[in-house]
Amino acid sequence: MSLTLYNALSDNLRHVFGGPVRKVPFSLGLTCPNRDGTKGTGGCVFCSHDELLPHWRVRGEGVRRQVTRGITATGGHCGTRYIAYLQDHTGTWCEPSVLADACREALAVDGVVGLSIGTRPDCITGAMWRVLEDLAATTHLWLELGLQTSDDRTLERLNRNHTAQVFADAAQEAARRGVAVVAHVMLGLPGEGAVEAEATAAFLAGTGVAGVKLHNTLVIRGTRLYDLWAAGGYAPPRREEYCDAAVRFLERTPAGTVIHRLAAEAPPELLAAPDWARAKHAVAAAVARELAVRGTRQGARAVFAGMNSPAAQGAPHLHDPHREATP
Ligand code: SF4
Repeated sequence: MSLTLYNALSDNLRHVFGGPVRKVPFSLGLTCPNRDGTKGTGGCVFCSHDELLPHWRVRGEGVRRQVTRGITATGGHCGTRYIAYLQDHTGTWCEPSVLADACREALAVDGVVGLSIGTRPDCITGAMWRVLEDLAATTHLWLELGLQTSDDRTLERLNRNHTAQVFADAAQEAARRGVAVVAHVMLGLPGEGAVEAEATAAFLAGTGVAGVKLHNTLVIRGTRLYDLWAAGGYAPPRREEYCDAAVRFLERTPAGTVIHRLAAEAPPELLAAPDWARAKHAVAAAVARELAVRGTRQGARAVFAGMNSPAAQGAPHLHDPHREATP
């Protein structure tokens, strides 16, 4: 039985940079067009606004200071390299020059070798694409785009206010400009199971994204999903069900696609359900174990070869689950 069962980000970064690389989040205090009325109101039903901001962020603090403090918070080990991660609600919901300046500042911090920018697929203008294209040409850049599911009915239930086609268009534009896309996906959303997980994997394979961040759906206090769960209208999957859906997703994901994450996390005081999600690393390890138990691997049932994007191409290694350390 093979021990190299999925293409983990940690292995990919080691391969590209020759040593350990850690992510350090920073914030520009940006808002979200799905909350401010531009795209929609109320936000996505699962989204809790502020708790995921970097805990060391101080209001008004500059990018350089945030990233430096973030590096210190990780221990700041000599020789470690860092990816600065713009983890705002919608990282491109600003003037292109603001993003360009912030990224320049982050890259100027000692040890920072790349960038990751999280945003929605419908919030990138022509000028913003040019900023991203320039960054991709000069540094290691991941553009993290939220999809969650390829099912438009679910996207509507989630109040995402964009369709799967909007994501596909953005992924295509990114590929054209040499920008590597990481898709955010949630499994176990209301009304969804393993069948929808397979469909989303096949959809993403067709878009040629370079990476995927897989999340189990979390019920966070203060969200509309919490209200639905509390009223008995939603039950998150059991851990075995999540592992089954994740394995079936991975089987349909091209082997070269980098897996940035296998499980979600949230501050314990905000997580209402499921209880098993409190142990993120155990969940990721359970998914990897399930691949091994079934004698399968990432890409075993993939129809597309994948990898339109350049950042995935230095990633030939699949992951050894016995060295599990999902970022
Ligand atoms: S998930 Fe993203 S798009 Fe949805 S409300 Fe939250 S920040 Fe906005």
